[in-house]
Amino acid sequence: MELHGENKFKVRSYSNAAFQLGKYPHKVHDLDPSSYESIPGIGKNLVPKLEELVRSGEMTYLNQWIEKTPDGVIQMMAIKGIGPSKVRTIWEDMEIESVGELLYACNENRLVDLKGFGAKTQEQVRLVIEFMLENELKFHYASIESLVTEIKAAFKRKYPQGLISEAGEMLRRDPVINELDFVCTEDLSTVLDLEQHKIPINQSIVSPSDFERELFLKSAHTDHISKLDSLEGVDAKEIYGKNGFKIIPAEMRNGQDEYKWSEQHQEGDLVDNQDLKGCLHNHSTYSDGIHDLRKMAEHLKMNGYEYFGISDHSKTAVYAGGLRSDDILRQHLEIDELNKDLAPFKILKGIESDILSDGSLDYETDILKSFDFIVASIHSNMKMDEETANRRLLRAIENPYTSILGHPTGRLLLSRPGYPIDHRMIIDACAANNVSIELNSNPMRLDIDWTWIPYCMEKGVKISINPDAHRIEGFDHMRYGVMTARKGGLTKEMTLNALKLDSLETYFRR
Ligand SMILES: [Zn+2]
Ligand SMILES: [Zn+2]
Repeated sequence: MELHGENKFKVRSYSNAAFQLGKYPHKVHDLDPSSYESIPGIGKNLVPKLEELVRSGEMTYLNQWIEKTPDGVIQMMAIKGIGPSKVRTIWEDMEIESVGELLYACNENRLVDLKGFGAKTQEQVRLVIEFMLENELKFHYASIESLVTEIKAAFKRKYPQGLISEAGEMLRRDPVINELDFVCTEDLSTVLDLEQHKIPINQSIVSPSDFERELFLKSAHTDHISKLDSLEGVDAKEIYGKNGFKIIPAEMRNGQDEYKWSEQHQEGDLVDNQDLKGCLHNHSTYSDGIHDLRKMAEHLKMNGYEYFGISDHSKTAVYAGGLRSDDILRQHLEIDELNKDLAPFKILKGIESDILSDGSLDYETDILKSFDFIVASIHSNMKMDEETANRRLLRAIENPYTSILGHPTGRLLLSRPGYPIDHRMIIDACAANNVSIELNSNPMRLDIDWTWIPYCMEKGVKISINPDAHRIEGFDHMRYGVMTARKGGLTKEMTLNALKLDSLETYFRR
């Protein structure tokens, strides 16, 4: 009731009744309903409800409130440290309806300025949620990666000569992992208790001479293997060779378009971390980031990149400190100064413009013109049917100032499916309007889904591997973007931020 903003006195009478019943020394079941009113805290109007509860184990009145509440919001009530009124603020003011979305908001520093919150509460909420999510049955690739590293290291400590590799979903770099498969030459259960981990762990123990072959069989998807006539061979290379194929990289053995891909490409064509020349779509202290422009730019420069595309939130994203026109002016002046300092490294002036409900961008043309590039993304009114979503996106894509379509479906893996879109129609429109599509590299997003990369490439739509960093540590997420892009067969040639600075600037101008 508190969650729904019900009258304070009413809320208090129910909560007091529950409290009193909890410490009532007798069994309510044993009482006649006519004497319920003698129980402290039970007023006349509560008697029939208590009677129903005792009789049926349910209360219609309570069920009505529950029906009005999304499951995810009820789950948020289980987060220690935030009571119903805080959950209400999160739900109403931020339109957050699941625990996963809330975690994402914490990581983007959005709770800090929310009424009744602060940095401390935000951190506390984040830790509690991480714990909750870790205890669920599916895992983001990034959340399980360190466990795999630990297991392999422990194995190697005990068996320095032994062979071990992750197989299955892990080796295919699936964004969501259900179980861990290992191929090894010694029994892994002599190293660790396979049962005591939060995720199921399977092993196949083989002799060293069978290791490579087993690794291939245990890591390629069955739909991939079923396309092979013969499984003869000691390793992947030989097995492919006997079937007349070039070797297909492990992360691409998904049973999708990889055989077709291998007719025109080879492993060396795939984008890799060192191919990225810069990093687009990032946030600074101007909107909801933690680090300032200089710190972020210097970090990238120091790590060998040529450019840093800043794209703070736009004015409608008030919850994320969206930039008003005078902020933009101030930011552009600062960038001009920094660029003198950092040359030949360059900060590119961008914005992550909200795509408004009607599909328009968030500023007047004069302001839109002042950017080097614009990432257009949907952040609000995300509950749309496919037709509405398509219409909204198409209009944004057709805007001549849009350079990159940001996180195309708005999904958060394992917590929010995102709005439905017609991928083909959207990709076709990007092709027609020279718009690139983002592969948002946050391991909770990885949006656009990698399965659409082949179609993007076919249509000539470049993919931008963007970390959406809100702090310098966020740049590390590009790694997950690269992994996932490789799954889909993305070549460096079709990667927007594998372009060198001058080519990228020409691309944006055009
Ligand atoms: Zn965004
Ligand atoms: Zn962003």
